[in-house]
Amino acid sequence: MSARAFRLPSHVRPLSYHIDLSTDPSRVEFSGTVTIELEITSQTEAIVLHSRHLEVTRAEVSAMFGETDSALVSYQPEQETVTLLLERPLPVGRARALLVFSGRLAPSMHGLYLGADGVHSAVCSQCEATDARAIFPCFDEPAFKAGLRWTLRTGPGVTALSNGVLQNQFSSHGEQVFEFAETKPVSSYLAAVVVGDFEAEQADYVRDVPLKVYAPSGKGKQTHFAKGFTSRVLPWFEEYFDFPFPFGKYDQVAVPGFDAGAMENIGLVLFRQNLLLMEPGSASWRQEKVIALVIAHEMAHMWFGNVVTMRWWDDLWLNEAFAEWMAHKACHAINPSYEVWNDFIEDKSRVLFDDALHSTHPIWTPVETPDEAIEMFDSITYQKGCAVMRMLENFLGEDHFREGLRSYMKEFQYGNACGPDLWRSLEKASSLPVHTLMHTWVAQAGYPVVDIALVEEAGTTLVELHQERFFSDSHSKPGDQIWSIPMTVRYADDEGVKAHRFIFDRRAERVELPSKGTIRWIYGNQDEIGFYRQRIAEKTLAKLLPLATSVLSPVEQVGLLEDQWALVRNGSVSITSFVAVLSACSSTQNHNVLRVLAERLDALDLIVKDSGDKEARRKLRQLAEQWFAPQLQSLGFAPLAGEPQNDIQRRAICIGTLASMARVASVISTAEQFAAAEQANPRAVDPNLAGSFVAIAAKFGDETRYDRWVETFQARKAADKTPQEVARYLHTLSQFRLPTLTDRTLNLIIQGTIPQEAVSAIVSQLLSFRHSQQAAWEFLKQHWSTLRERFGDMGVSRVVEALGRMRASHREDVVHFFEQHKPAGAERALLRALERMDQSEQVRQRVTGDLLTYLISR
Ligand SMILES: [Zn+2]
Repeated sequence: MSARAFRLPSHVRPLSYHIDLSTDPSRVEFSGTVTIELEITSQTEAIVLHSRHLEVTRAEVSAMFGETDSALVSYQPEQETVTLLLERPLPVGRARALLVFSGRLAPSMHGLYLGADGVHSAVCSQCEATDARAIFPCFDEPAFKAGLRWTLRTGPGVTALSNGVLQNQFSSHGEQVFEFAETKPVSSYLAAVVVGDFEAEQADYVRDVPLKVYAPSGKGKQTHFAKGFTSRVLPWFEEYFDFPFPFGKYDQVAVPGFDAGAMENIGLVLFRQNLLLMEPGSASWRQEKVIALVIAHEMAHMWFGNVVTMRWWDDLWLNEAFAEWMAHKACHAINPSYEVWNDFIEDKSRVLFDDALHSTHPIWTPVETPDEAIEMFDSITYQKGCAVMRMLENFLGEDHFREGLRSYMKEFQYGNACGPDLWRSLEKASSLPVHTLMHTWVAQAGYPVVDIALVEEAGTTLVELHQERFFSDSHSKPGDQIWSIPMTVRYADDEGVKAHRFIFDRRAERVELPSKGTIRWIYGNQDEIGFYRQRIAEKTLAKLLPLATSVLSPVEQVGLLEDQWALVRNGSVSITSFVAVLSACSSTQNHNVLRVLAERLDALDLIVKDSGDKEARRKLRQLAEQWFAPQLQSLGFAPLAGEPQNDIQRRAICIGTLASMARVASVISTAEQFAAAEQANPRAVDPNLAGSFVAIAAKFGDETRYDRWVETFQARKAADKTPQEVARYLHTLSQFRLPTLTDRTLNLIIQGTIPQEAVSAIVSQLLSFRHSQQAAWEFLKQHWSTLRERFGDMGVSRVVEALGRMRASHREDVVHFFEQHKPAGAERALLRALERMDQSEQVRQRVTGDLLTYLISR
């Protein structure tokens, strides 16, 4: 066993911590004391607790009613612990340890670090998964729950926040001292502090719980949306769980630099600014919905994760899958017009892609080391977990599901639980075989593809089903896995459209549908709630296809397109029949479907581009124009008052595709004019279109325009404009095609002009585009060790994963480089990237010929 896999002994447990911490944005050093009340369950001569990069200058231990002994401190850096060696053994019972320690703010965005963005800076914390130990010595495993009480000592003129309710604030020896109340027992990864220059408006109250939203000073008015939404969503959760919010206060803070999107610390949730702050007229509908979802996701954790916590990191999905699922459920309940489940199909499509790789893993995966814990924060845990929960709720019914969750919450409150505990509660509430069903989804990697065919037999129509594991490459053998699949198929007979539900848990089965007369068409995944793909037999598909846009719901149309594309990629379907499916959906009037259509055209465009055949590319652009131009023509460029969101979103997609892919000159020049108007006044243009206009102008821009982009980005940041208005310029720098401009963007990273939290996203963008990937890869290799630190743990996975977008000619170099520079915490991301690179190359080799022939003959 590696030292990194070390687990603390269980005979010494913390009951509560009092952390007295002195820190301030103006100092790189911090220092403090931690007093830990302990419970000793068998006599011990040593106390082992986690600590990383901290110097412990003094340690004292006393048994209850005993004298205080100083302890000898020894460090075990490999296993990230300190051991306190005692002069006299500690007897069973209560004890107290006091440690005096100091450390330095971390260079990455983990542990205690300086978040910086333009003129704003703040000391921020990020403890999940295993970084509380870099702030104070503690028992840093989720099963060691203990009360947290903070005292913070800072310089004058800053705001200090922690997990607890502020009880006292005073000045002492030129310092400000903030004393906070102790929390209920929580895991150490939920500890949090923030010290910096923030402002917040008066609290809103839900019952007696104060809700506050903090922004860097000067941005207070960007918090209104978050405030309003929070006071609607908190009561929804209290009602859903039948369990009042128990942590005393709810502060949400937009910090100037964050690695993840947001973090659900008890009573003090930290966010990236763009995921909390906005103003009406500055954010697109999609951006507004993401803010709502992230707020709801973090709040769901107050119950799922914070009241009841996973026992160990292998059950991380219990936290994240549920938070993701509940966020969608809450948003849908509070604002149905958001249609968040229609957007979820995009997340689901991405994770169906990831989960069809060999490098995927089961939702429940063993975890031993901190790096393995970090790797669990991926699409399988979040999005597959969410999709599987949704499928389960649909199978059990909303009422049974809620009842099961309520009793689970009460039974395990302020303690820890694991998957089987939850299945027991759900099984009791529903009297259905939850454990058997979920085992196939949680413990097995991957997911099934279901073959569906209508067959005639003795005058009746039957549905013939077959399942096997789906792989995204053409040469993998599926093996003997079987899933217990809750299926709902939709079909039409002489009486109209019907749905039929059943469990499909065998390799193959023939199902007789309750039908009258001829079955006209069938679709095997109602509303795409099932987590599987469909391979519809040719003749059965031929019946469905002409009716696709009229009988299938928008998400089903997306599902059909995505399944067919995946089948092209693994060699089961020809590229020409895929173009026929695209064509069948091209008349769609729904923005979700149109977006997928645009993305798939982009994918085809890349294949044709890589072939170097200019004539075929011209034909593909014509095809795109033929599909998208009539829609834009009827919508017009300018939004109309009172227009439905569907039309506004369709307009943005049409403009993007017609300019960027089809290269329609008139659309490009109009977009450039609107971009110029946006630059003069960010509110002059519909925020749903502004991003597209700015991106198009960048794509076709020269050096002079690039200069203006950098200036605009910096000026808006200095003027405290909303994150969305700033990001439009920052995140389109990578669109400029000239090689010298790619180099300049890379230089902005080195110079520190690009904020730390955006570095991994910008590098990933540059690695994704053909025009910039070579330069970005050379840059990454050259600056790996400094960049690795700046990316942060989440960021490094993003970047490594983006390498999968490069051509396979880079493969050997990538493998060689990472043999020398192990990407700790991103090992699985590297495997995914390599697989993706290989598969894209195989697809290219397989389909290019047919695609070119098809296009030329058009
Ligand atoms: Zn989460």
